[in-house]
Amino acid sequence: MNERGLVDLFAAMNSLSGPSYECRYYPCHFEDQDCSICFCIFYPCLIYRFGEIVTSSSGMPVWSCKNCHWIHKRENVEEVVTYFSAFPRQVLVEADWRFFSKAFQEILFGKELGYEVGRAYNLMPANFYGFSCRDSDEKAFLAVKIGEEFLGVREVRDFENLGEEVLIPLKSGGILRGFDGKRCVECEL
Ligand code: SF4
Repeated sequence: MNERGLVDLFAAMNSLSGPSYECRYYPCHFEDQDCSICFCIFYPCLIYRFGEIVTSSSGMPVWSCKNCHWIHKRENVEEVVTYFSAFPRQVLVEADWRFFSKAFQEILFGKELGYEVGRAYNLMPANFYGFSCRDSDEKAFLAVKIGEEFLGVREVRDFENLGEEVLIPLKSGGILRGFDGKRCVECEL
């Protein structure tokens, strides 16, 4: 549960704060950013066009939002607030990562592109969406287990023996590699 993100979302549903000029971290992303949702409700979104997996100072893999401006743009905050206003707050309190990932995909792409593979969830089609892709011989991708703070990440080559994990492409420089639902591809970010 992304408690801090939920607190910010509920506050934004009451009223948008705009830029927090008095915050000592302002502007943490860009001048005049909207700070209504400081802690992103979609964290970790696992969508590479916004963030990426990095190694923390303690050596653990984490999802980094350092270069993501999306949740701090006014029009996006408004869209997020409009989307979630359709749900009772109790539903949002009890919702899991999967619920918020579906919501995020619907806001971004107009539909959910990810799909379930046994107990796992394949988020690779959402990662590839809109990018130029070609066939690839490389069959590896990542299976991510979302924990309290850190991500458990392992490289996998097929859909066998998956647990409650999220499947995302392998990223190498500006190239994403993985399975788009029909074939192995590599796509330029
Ligand atoms: S990368 Fe951006 S959209 Fe994704 S979780 Fe971080 S702040 Fe949210």
